Amino acid sequence: MSTTQTSKIEIIKAATTKINEVDFENLSFGSVFTDHLFECDFKNGEWQKPVIKPYAPFLLDPSTRVFHYGQAIFEGMKAYKDEDDAIWLFRPDENYKRFNKSAVRMAMQEVPEDIFMSGLKELLQLDEAWIKRGKGNSMYIRPFMIATGTGVIANPSDDYKFMIILSPVSAYYAGEVKVLIAEHYSRAANGGIGAAKAAGNYAAQFYPTSLANKQGFQQVIWTDDATHTKLEEAGTMNVFFRINDTLFTAPVSERILDGVTRKTLLELAKSEGINVDVRPVLVSELVEASKNGSLKEIFGAGTAAVVSPISGFSYQDVYYELPKNENSMALQLKDKLTNIQNKLAEDTFGWTVKV
Ligand SMILES: *Cc1c(COP(=O)(O)O)cnc(C)c1O
Repeated sequence: MSTTQTSKIEIIKAATTKINEVDFENLSFGSVFTDHLFECDFKNGEWQKPVIKPYAPFLLDPSTRVFHYGQAIFEGMKAYKDEDDAIWLFRPDENYKRFNKSAVRMAMQEVPEDIFMSGLKELLQLDEAWIKRGKGNSMYIRPFMIATGTGVIANPSDDYKFMIILSPVSAYYAGEVKVLIAEHYSRAANGGIGAAKAAGNYAAQFYPTSLANKQGFQQVIWTDDATHTKLEEAGTMNVFFRINDTLFTAPVSERILDGVTRKTLLELAKSEGINVDVRPVLVSELVEASKNGSLKEIFGAGTAAVVSPISGFSYQDVYYELPKNENSMALQLKDKLTNIQNKLAEDTFGWTVKV
């Protein structure tokens, strides 16, 4: 890890605010950004002075490495405001560590903790008026890094740009989600980059997902690339299966991203006395459980939607509908988690961190 000391952040304030143009009651996820962004460049072998400045487009040379070889990584996290207007982050150390894990895998520069955390906190404080109180409301935080070195030689870049942008969001409802179980395409492979939050992982998913969309499915459940028999992730989320009263999810691996929501839900479920079983889950088990009525729920888990219930799945051209649950574990766990995040319930786990 780089040990560069950062000097204080330079802050250039926007002359005007866009906040009055925003309809906070009707936010569409990730489409509105706050007045400022955080930026820190890695150049000449070192991190430069970090700056917070007005949110605006910027120019890059056409030969900039990120356009050609895709060295780009990101994180997704959230901040919340409590009833006393204090700002809270949820397990930010997990996102920080994962960001640098992704950086290492993509042969990019690791970001010093001080730059990441102090940049994040200063930016949230400056744009605090954009964070709304109340259940479901939060500030979606998007730290990302791109290769900014120029020239089309296929080598890792020497230069990088690390940025943080902020997008206010409200409770996210995906509507009915029917999924298609992947029989041919793969999101990740052993030895690949599936465990990194690399931009390219998303690009690789778009085409197979669009094929599923044409068949009437909103998402794809990815299976292992070698045999397509193990259930791995749902779209860009980790995935849980409830069979009778046990919650199953696959162990993290080189092919499965180590989601903060996934590990949090596992801990929450255990503390609620719910039986959890972390092991590879087979497509054949899911089909069997659906046929014999023991399959109660499937849901995705990730920062954006928290929990996203799935209403049915298709495998080998057969559609399996899930029962409508009165006492959904997905919604029970989502409620517990969002109450902790929004500081409406006590955080006995020590997950929330004051800004
Ligand atoms: C970001 C992401 C997740 C969810 O991770 P969280 O930390 O819970 O937001 C799951 N799978 C993939 C592929 C992801 O990129």
